[in-house]
Amino acid sequence: MEENKNLTRGEQLRKALCYTKKNGYDRLIPGELEAMEAYCAGYKQFLDAGKTERECVDRAIAMAENAGFRRYERGMELKAGDKVYCSNRGKAIMLAVIGRQSMAEGVNIGAAHIDSPRLDLKPTPLYEEDEMAFLKTHYYGGLRKYQWVTIPLELHGVVALKSGEVIRVSVGNGEGDPLFTIDDLLPHLGMKQSKNPLSEAIPGESLNILVGSRPLADDEGSDRVKIAVLELLNRKYGIVEEDFISAELSAVPAFRASDIGFDRSMIGSYGHDDRVCGYAALAALLQLQVPERTAICMLADKEEIGSEGVSGMKSAAFDTFMADLCASQGVLPRVCYEKSFCLSADVTAAFDPNFADVYEKRNSAFVNYGVSLSKYTGARGKSEASDASAELVAYVRRVLDQANVVWQMAELGKVDEGGGGTVAAYMAQRNIDTLDAGVPVLSMHSPFETVGKLDCYMTFKAMKAVFEAC
Ligand code: MN
Ligand code: MN
Repeated sequence: MEENKNLTRGEQLRKALCYTKKNGYDRLIPGELEAMEAYCAGYKQFLDAGKTERECVDRAIAMAENAGFRRYERGMELKAGDKVYCSNRGKAIMLAVIGRQSMAEGVNIGAAHIDSPRLDLKPTPLYEEDEMAFLKTHYYGGLRKYQWVTIPLELHGVVALKSGEVIRVSVGNGEGDPLFTIDDLLPHLGMKQSKNPLSEAIPGESLNILVGSRPLADDEGSDRVKIAVLELLNRKYGIVEEDFISAELSAVPAFRASDIGFDRSMIGSYGHDDRVCGYAALAALLQLQVPERTAICMLADKEEIGSEGVSGMKSAAFDTFMADLCASQGVLPRVCYEKSFCLSADVTAAFDPNFADVYEKRNSAFVNYGVSLSKYTGARGKSEASDASAELVAYVRRVLDQANVVWQMAELGKVDEGGGGTVAAYMAQRNIDTLDAGVPVLSMHSPFETVGKLDCYMTFKAMKAVFEAC
């Protein structure tokens, strides 16, 4: 211990021995406020351009090509400094910057997901009831249904035709576009509904999107409003009702990403989970020159429903891409994996003073305290968590401290209060050392989530430090 004559013995001991947490605004280095604002401006654009995983992939490709990345082709010769990307069916994307070292020495991976909770249309969605037209939905991900009524909605996605043609749909975010909404009871008639538990007040089958009310003119047949809507859709997209069967259309909140607070210190938006970490990983990767270790950015789909499916983190698409890169250096993927590191970048719950009783304050993530590391996630005694090793956490402490990253260590809520998972477990299953880290979010999975700008920026800095680590 260093002696400091101006301090009492107690003060010296506290300074030397105690772990003290400090607000990130008291720990910023000169010039960082400006860098943080500039970074967050780019992030807000990314949010507004990417309301679905497909749109996020499109945006990521545009950004990557702008930064000199090429589409990866199997068998491509790769040398240090080469930058490539590979889209998995337009719904997930993997990007790589080839390092100086052989991939046999392992790679640095930043993994996040770009799907967010939303309302997907059912295969036969359109119907008319009492001269109003609606679309039936099946919600995607863990959302609180009562939050999704009486808000403005947009419709995004694709309609795939039998001919093979794929029609893009995006209604609501263009200038002068109409919006959609789901109606709810007025309080005057909501007395019975109000007595239900939150989880039952709005049943899943009542999440029907209002899409029209004007009947077809000069007609005496049935479903005149529905026919009129179909006629509009046919005129605009060339589709008929049966084409909904091979469509992926999602209703998403029509909110723009906006600064929150008089001090503009936060960002409110739909889809921070997990585009806030996806953008951080992407932006950090795009800035790399020639790293020591090959750097990989993985933006996965389907995390919100368990990382399943061909575009989720459990898919072999990731292993195929890695095997292809490894093959270009004559390296076996298993040799690469066992020496690799992955930061599984996903949001965590920010401590909310309005709901303090579900958090354990000493081990919660706080807004403005920086990127939040989680040794483990899971629920009910860490079930389904990856649980990184102490050695790995120590490694990340070192990497982040060396790069002046403001970070904190946290769990998601009180023990036995709930829990959650990320893609970390599926990276760890591949024999890749993985640690969870991400931005603390208020109102997670709601149509309008809130994050601190400082934490967004520190997650970017953390990703950059991880990619540059050797
Ligand atoms: Mn997430
Ligand atoms: Mn989530």
